[in-house]
Amino acid sequence: MRLALAASAALVLAAAATSSANAQPLADTAAALRDKALAGSPAYPVLESLTTEIGARPAGSAAQRRAMEWGVAKLKALGFQNVHTEPFTITAWVRGPESAEVTGVNPQHLAILGLGGSVPTPAGGVEAEIALFHTYADLLAAPMGSLKGKIAVVTEAMVRTQDGSGYGAANPIRRSGASEAAKRGAVAYLCRSLATNENRLPHTGALDYTPDAPKIPAAALSVVDAEQLDRMVALGKPVRVKLSLDSHTVPNAPAWNVVGEVVGREKPDQIIVIGGHLDSWDPGTGAIDDGAGVAITVGAAKLINDLPAHPKRTVRVVMFGSEEMDGSGEAYAKAHAAEAPHIVLTGESDEGADPIWSLALPKGTADLPAMKTLANVLAPLKIFVDRAPSRFGGSDVVGLVMQGVPVIDYHQDATRYFDIHHSADDTLDKVDRPKMDQNVAAWAALVYVVAESDVDLRPAAAKP
Ligand SMILES: [Zn+2]
Repeated sequence: MRLALAASAALVLAAAATSSANAQPLADTAAALRDKALAGSPAYPVLESLTTEIGARPAGSAAQRRAMEWGVAKLKALGFQNVHTEPFTITAWVRGPESAEVTGVNPQHLAILGLGGSVPTPAGGVEAEIALFHTYADLLAAPMGSLKGKIAVVTEAMVRTQDGSGYGAANPIRRSGASEAAKRGAVAYLCRSLATNENRLPHTGALDYTPDAPKIPAAALSVVDAEQLDRMVALGKPVRVKLSLDSHTVPNAPAWNVVGEVVGREKPDQIIVIGGHLDSWDPGTGAIDDGAGVAITVGAAKLINDLPAHPKRTVRVVMFGSEEMDGSGEAYAKAHAAEAPHIVLTGESDEGADPIWSLALPKGTADLPAMKTLANVLAPLKIFVDRAPSRFGGSDVVGLVMQGVPVIDYHQDATRYFDIHHSADDTLDKVDRPKMDQNVAAWAALVYVVAESDVDLRPAAAKP
């Protein structure tokens, strides 16, 4: 018995020695990747190239086709393997001329942007008295039929938060407001931009019509124009607005996910899927949303590709082609359903270029040795591992997550993000290169640790 105990203790010690011998190069290489990224990663030149050579690139547009060609050429030039596109189709929405004005005794221009997916107004526009609600809850409390013939306006302000939760909370105002207003009889809908800035640039974004209400035209007011309408209504006289929105849709428009790989040296069929979305809204040049996410993940994978030896598992970078109006995540999950059991991890960078402050891992994996190693490498970046498990990962990877693929969430500082997001101000000058490189450092370290170790992040119940 004592001999057996001694023997097993010796075995444990030997195993511990082996595991720390293995852990050290893993930690060293991950730390070296981190430091290389911090010293100036490949991400910023990628972002500069995309925003300068392509600019805005709404899904379904000619610019998006050029962006796809740019993506293929860029991934090849950076030395990725298996570079290819995966086509799918979407119903593209194309903005036309738009305007809004207050009519009557104090006529004035209003700065607006139509919401993505909005129907156009009749030619010549729609003019009506407004019914203004200071909160979305007030609109929902309005009786059915009470907005007949009116333009409903919601001026509730989005709250600025570090974690971006203010945007999630306000999202129904933009997503569902038009249908809620239409159910109550409104002929058009305006909402205050889901934004935290105080300038005259409106912020667009997609809406969703529900089948139980007529489709009415809808637009976002700039923050200051929403406040202007608040003051006009406070004067106590009826306020009339004329809204003119033009747009059209293109059924079966082509779109593409653009893919490149760092092929694993030992287990190439075990895959890590990371990426950002290549499409953007039309007013800016899609720098923070989401050229940054494309550049961060491409930059991280490029650093790994340049190592003397590729890691054991394959790292795949995807430039998703239609996130803002949906389509790319669904297309990817559908095309890769059979492969999903072999995808060992996924995640999307889609929260701008400001620093990451926390990492959420799949449930129950934070104490695995490889993840402890990762936590140590991330600590100097001021990133902590959250004890709450990851859940979302990004709209383009949620389809994979629903197929059981483990996901991580890197939480970025979103304090500034909604000053810019979906507006004409989403341009390259808003990106701070060292902050973006902190993101690249974090992604490179994470992806390398998972690709080089045999860490299994799948919950037991979801193993292939
Ligand atoms: Zn985005």
